[in-house]
Amino acid sequence: MAKNKNIKNICIYCRRSEDEVKEMYESAFDGVAICGDCLERVHQIVQQEKQHKEKSEVESLEIKTPVEIMNYLNQYVIGQERAKKVLSVAVYNHYKRLKYESLKTSSEEVSLDKSNLIMIGKTGTGKTLLARTIATLLNVPFAIADATVLTQAGYVGEDVETILTRLLQNADYNVQRAERGIVFIDEIDKIARKGDNPSITRDVSGEGVQQALLKLLEGTVVNVPPEGGRKHPEQKFIQVDTRNILFIAAGAFDGIERNIALRLNSNAIGFQESLNREKIDKNDMIRYAQPQDLKSFGLIPELIGRFPVLTSLDNLDARALRNILTEPKNAITKQYKKLFELDGKKLIFDDDALDFFVQTAEKYSLGARGLRGILEEVMLDLMFTLPDENQTDEIHISKDYAKQQIEKNGGIASIKEE
Ligand code: ADP
Repeated sequence: MAKNKNIKNICIYCRRSEDEVKEMYESAFDGVAICGDCLERVHQIVQQEKQHKEKSEVESLEIKTPVEIMNYLNQYVIGQERAKKVLSVAVYNHYKRLKYESLKTSSEEVSLDKSNLIMIGKTGTGKTLLARTIATLLNVPFAIADATVLTQAGYVGEDVETILTRLLQNADYNVQRAERGIVFIDEIDKIARKGDNPSITRDVSGEGVQQALLKLLEGTVVNVPPEGGRKHPEQKFIQVDTRNILFIAAGAFDGIERNIALRLNSNAIGFQESLNREKIDKNDMIRYAQPQDLKSFGLIPELIGRFPVLTSLDNLDARALRNILTEPKNAITKQYKKLFELDGKKLIFDDDALDFFVQTAEKYSLGARGLRGILEEVMLDLMFTLPDENQTDEIHISKDYAKQQIEKNGGIASIKEE
């Protein structure tokens, strides 16, 4: 529809005509416009409303205390007392800081630093479980990113910003919610600087990815591609402020024990020698990890600096694995019992069957992650016949039955990782 040039534009807010104002912004309709002054005022009102909403949301943010967080974690995660404690305090401080920084007056001088956290521990010891459980407790969006697929811009792989795409998706694209979420970066050890990596598709040293992560971690406004993938020029971005996002990084750091031992040994020369030798548990070197060990492993100091909190996870022994089978609130055996109960059957695992699961997981170094695979193998036939089973109301899983099922299905080779 062509516009009629003879009709004068009038501001829909102040009713002044285009002769009376400095700037007038036309609409698609004849004579309907908004003047520069009113546009500015409307913009201010919108901004104020937004800030007000944000403030009241932050004010109503219920912060869980470290003890509350710990108690919740205890229901789902076996052992790992040290990591649970460190994590509970770090998460409490993070959300306390978020509240303080969002509500503080301009006269307040102290500014609280972010407490991103890094966890070192063998695979399957509960690192992801810890982070995920905390996000569930706090009811904040949670995203897992795999550092190995990230690459420096210009190389094959994913840009670091896609980490936030996942967080946005998990927050149903509610940017404010995403900006208070938790991002778990797994396998951070795999982007350690390597001496002579021959790959030409990935950046040669891993250092480029570390550099790219820096800005995300320290807190900045990032242009996030809403659908993920590679960034391209015509794409629309969503701006996400990472200042209040809690980043938890994790990795197995295979071989870091050597770096720790070297450091401890060189420290031990001289009068401290006897003191250190006495205290150090050689089988559990990881618990002595310090930021400088991450540096000698190949993480750049700037990256390490953005993870002020460092903690380690213990290796899970047979007792821990046994507890993992039965103790957590959603322990795997509890889940099977529930499934059977829904079909009107009582499922009972014999003690020696449970021990057998643990021994099998240990024998093949599958750890806690393997327990699920082992159980799936053992339970498959029963799950298949369960709905049509009319003979008995009670089903026992004995060690012999478990063993036989695993052997029948081709042994451990068929047990997949989760
Ligand atoms: P990681 O991130 O350390 O590689 P995960 O947290 O993904 O390991 O653990 C894999 C699975 O093993 C979990 O989903 C959980 O079922 C089980 N698991 C591992 N560690 C524990 C633990 N400490 N307590 C309870 N379950 C655990």
